[in-house]
Amino acid sequence: MTAANLTNDPRLESWIPVAPNGDFPIQNLPLGIFSRAGSAPRIGVAIGDRILDVRAAAEAGLVDVCDRPLLCAPTLNGLFGAGRQTQRILRDRLSALLRAGGDSALREARTDALLVPAGGVTMHLPLDIGDYVDFYSSIEHATNLGKLLRPDSEPLLPNWRWIPIGYHGRSATVVVDGTPIVRPSGQRKPPSAAKPEFAPTAMLDIELEMGFFTGRGNQPGRPIRVAHALEHVAGLVLVNDWSARDIQAWEYQPLGPFLGKSFATTISPWVVTLDALEPFRLEGPRQEPPPLEYLSGAPACTYAIDLAVELQTSQMRAEKAAAFEISRTTFARMYWSVAQQLAHATSNGALTRTGDLFASGTISGPDPGTYGSLIELTWRGERPIELPNGETRTFLQDGDEVTLRGWCERRGARRIGFGAARGRIVPAEA
Ligand code: CA
Repeated sequence: MTAANLTNDPRLESWIPVAPNGDFPIQNLPLGIFSRAGSAPRIGVAIGDRILDVRAAAEAGLVDVCDRPLLCAPTLNGLFGAGRQTQRILRDRLSALLRAGGDSALREARTDALLVPAGGVTMHLPLDIGDYVDFYSSIEHATNLGKLLRPDSEPLLPNWRWIPIGYHGRSATVVVDGTPIVRPSGQRKPPSAAKPEFAPTAMLDIELEMGFFTGRGNQPGRPIRVAHALEHVAGLVLVNDWSARDIQAWEYQPLGPFLGKSFATTISPWVVTLDALEPFRLEGPRQEPPPLEYLSGAPACTYAIDLAVELQTSQMRAEKAAAFEISRTTFARMYWSVAQQLAHATSNGALTRTGDLFASGTISGPDPGTYGSLIELTWRGERPIELPNGETRTFLQDGDEVTLRGWCERRGARRIGFGAARGRIVPAEA
């Protein structure tokens, strides 16, 4: 049994209590950056409803498995840049310290200072994000958008089954779970209008996505080969690619998305590593036509991640009504895989550095309840969503809060989760 398999063993239990269906059992051990009042941001690992302060544990001599500066840094860039093997060694050590019947050093230390209640901390972006790419890798989503945006032509463009389509987004406006989202203003032109106007978006939407962070990068001019791509991937997070559909519709031709998407992208704070996801790795859908050689022979690297989108309006909050699930889907159907995306993105020799974020594109399934955006769920506003309190929604209104959730569950493995990526809409700047 390899070390990675041991840390994933469903029989492992932590000596720290973990709720039976919690997101963060000992098989997960996701990494993030947190701070407490008066202390600097630092690396933590989520376990149950606690966070192990990795920096403090390293300073106490409990985690001497890699260079201490990597563990005492205010971001995960250094640790992830050291490569997958360093991540695995750290995971083995953290698992041993947190496991019932494992190494008792942490348990015997003054654990109050090392294990912090998760409810009392501020979470930060896990990495200093360099470049940000957003793909378009769900065939169901690409087909739906084709039907909505180009109703008179073939929904899937001829290049789609050959190229993992993507665009370069704006890393500076990637924000962490809970950051308020200011309704953007921009140019929009209703089809009936003679000229465009500049105004707050009236079609504010979400895009349910997953994203991966790169670990070790490549050298300029040296593509990452598809067979080795997973050695360059540190882990995954939830991504909400907020989108202003009216701004997007007016600006996107001929060069693609720009200001309709660059105002905000929300990610979940905990990076779930590929080692934690290993029990949930599987073959993706059959690709037809077979991809070109540089995209062929990828390892199985679609992940069985269940995903949900919840919506809570300000009226629902006032009524103390729970958030309502508006979509449920899975990452497992994605046409282009993580390895193919990274191989393609570097196939021209483009440089990728540690901490680049590659998002999957909106994740939609085949049925209406499985779509990952409001423009699909409401079919561009034709079929409003009815909420339990009688309200309806097409696009988002001020005060609406959207929560993305993701988790992995299968027989023979312990359930692990991603936490949440939340954002509440606040009114446009005057
Ligand atoms: Ca997107």
